Amino acid sequence: MTKEKSLSIKNSGGFHVDEKGYYGEFGGAFIPEMLYPNLEELRQKYLEIMYEESFQKEFHQLLRDYVGRPSPLYFAKRLSEKHGTKIYLKREDLNHTGAHKVNNTIGQILMAKRLGKTRIIAETGAGQHGVATATVCALMGIQCVVYMGEIDIARQAPNVARMKMLGAEVIPATSGSKTLKDATNEAIRDWINNPVDTHYIIGSAIGPHPYPDMVTRFQSVISEEIKWQLKEKEGRENPDYVVACIGGGSNAAGTYYHFLDEPKVGIIAVEAAGKGIDSGESAATSALGKIGIIHGCKTMLMQTPDGQITEPYSISAGLDYPGVGPMHSHLYKSGRAEFYSATDDEAMTAGLELSQLEGIIPAIESGHAFAIFQHKKFNPDDVLVISLSGRGDKDLQTYIDYFKLA
Ligand SMILES: *Cc1c(COP(=O)(O)O)cnc(C)c1O
Repeated sequence: MTKEKSLSIKNSGGFHVDEKGYYGEFGGAFIPEMLYPNLEELRQKYLEIMYEESFQKEFHQLLRDYVGRPSPLYFAKRLSEKHGTKIYLKREDLNHTGAHKVNNTIGQILMAKRLGKTRIIAETGAGQHGVATATVCALMGIQCVVYMGEIDIARQAPNVARMKMLGAEVIPATSGSKTLKDATNEAIRDWINNPVDTHYIIGSAIGPHPYPDMVTRFQSVISEEIKWQLKEKEGRENPDYVVACIGGGSNAAGTYYHFLDEPKVGIIAVEAAGKGIDSGESAATSALGKIGIIHGCKTMLMQTPDGQITEPYSISAGLDYPGVGPMHSHLYKSGRAEFYSATDDEAMTAGLELSQLEGIIPAIESGHAFAIFQHKKFNPDDVLVISLSGRGDKDLQTYIDYFKLA
């Protein structure tokens, strides 16, 4: 990526954010007035800081030596034979902490340091983003406070223990449904009260501008690597399709980023249909959502007729989010991306298949991306790259219960 290209915000009907923070009709910054100074400081400085030579150097050095990048692009031979097409896996599961989330938290902790911040706050649902944040705070010796719904704290005890082990303070959100959106509200309240010393690390390609763009750019290392890795393996930089699961949409945004303006590259998103799109227990935002405001941005979200946010459901905690990031709403609405949704059963079956054909146990979130083969047929000479966003260790108990393995 050249410096000029990265620094310019396109003011077009394209798929990148515009100067006002919009992707088409989605995005923006819908925030309480008291947050304005914090966000404005970030908006004015993020691109300049991010593309400073010293920042890029430190970021890439940590990605290499601490995270273990580049993550391999692996040709999945047996899976390819099974589905009659050429399948490559982008191995984000091999990153330190076991998923793609650390690409973003490394970037944001460096941003926080450049902004002179001495305290980090984050929200977490299942605890994966909380762990990735606590990890980089330990790495940098910076105070870390993670807000987590009281119900999630009870459901996700191992991740709570990890965060504490890493030195973070975990504060329960006890209001509302005591889950992710309540934790988010608490984090925003904290940020309003601590505008000078605190940086808020948001965990997906969501939130008020400039967060979706900032998170996407940090995660875009995924597609940057895919391009040169595929060139080495296939003699061309562009696959026919890139496939990713979508919660808020950060692994997907990073996987798509350098292909957004390549119209021949098909973009495929897989959401969580939970127990079925029409079951009342799902997180299939594109199928069920309507435009609304969540987490400070205008995007597609699941809501009741009078605009209350619906509690989402998925067997995978990381996809259990009632909205998608604004870039994905635009990719959906414009038709640039194809959206599918996979049920719990389809994702679990796909996770088992990947385990037994390739010796790789995926996170259940990632299992949703692999469920694409239950929905779409590909040609024998198509080249697909699937984002294997995380490893399945954290999901072992769910696999055990589902497949009666013990
Ligand atoms: C958190 C998580 C996701 C979903 O988050 P996105 O921001 O949509 O990428 C997907 N996969 C794994 C392994 C996760 O931990």
